[in-house]
Amino acid sequence: MTTAVYFDLDFTLLQYTDDFEAIFGRAIPDAPDGAYERYVEELIDAFGRLSATPHRDGIDAVLSEFDVGIATDVAVQRYYQSELDATTVPAQTRSALERVATHHPTGILTNGAPKMQRAKVEGHELDSVVDAVVVSNDPDVAARKPAGEIFAAAEDALPADEYVYVGDDYDEDIVGARRAGWDALHVGDDGPEDARRVASVDDAVARIV
Ligand SMILES: [Mg+2]
Repeated sequence: MTTAVYFDLDFTLLQYTDDFEAIFGRAIPDAPDGAYERYVEELIDAFGRLSATPHRDGIDAVLSEFDVGIATDVAVQRYYQSELDATTVPAQTRSALERVATHHPTGILTNGAPKMQRAKVEGHELDSVVDAVVVSNDPDVAARKPAGEIFAAAEDALPADEYVYVGDDYDEDIVGARRAGWDALHVGDDGPEDARRVASVDDAVARIV
């Protein structure tokens, strides 16, 4: 009997050293007042309509509505680099991921933009550890947690008898996985207390392996 293990990416495998406004500020320095808020508004809308390029959509909105002397392609590349630079994978998390991957088919299942999420997965060399990376706004997936379709896409990517998901966001990760018939271990502190809440990815892996 095979159990595949999927992990959420942001705030589960990856931690952030900066907030998103600071990340944006490094991509577009000296942005006018209101530019960041406009960016976030467009970004959220783009995620919701399943755009494959939400950051570009957000930056396009800013560059067309505000006087910012920078080309879209340059700003988008800078944004990707800035967000990547603001992420870390704690050593314990990496070794836990490596440990589970030696025993189980292992993947990453994330809500996000395909280019951005893959840049972080590859930038931290997690692609060589896991067997599959499933990203919501990839046109081949086109579904966001907690929707059942993204969990179905993850099952297609890693055939197994049973699935476990490890994530930090109760409503998206834990509720979504359980509705899809998966076991779920919650590394966050939102949502109700339950017996499947764990303190860390390391603790989650200790329960799985
Ligand atoms: Mg998360």
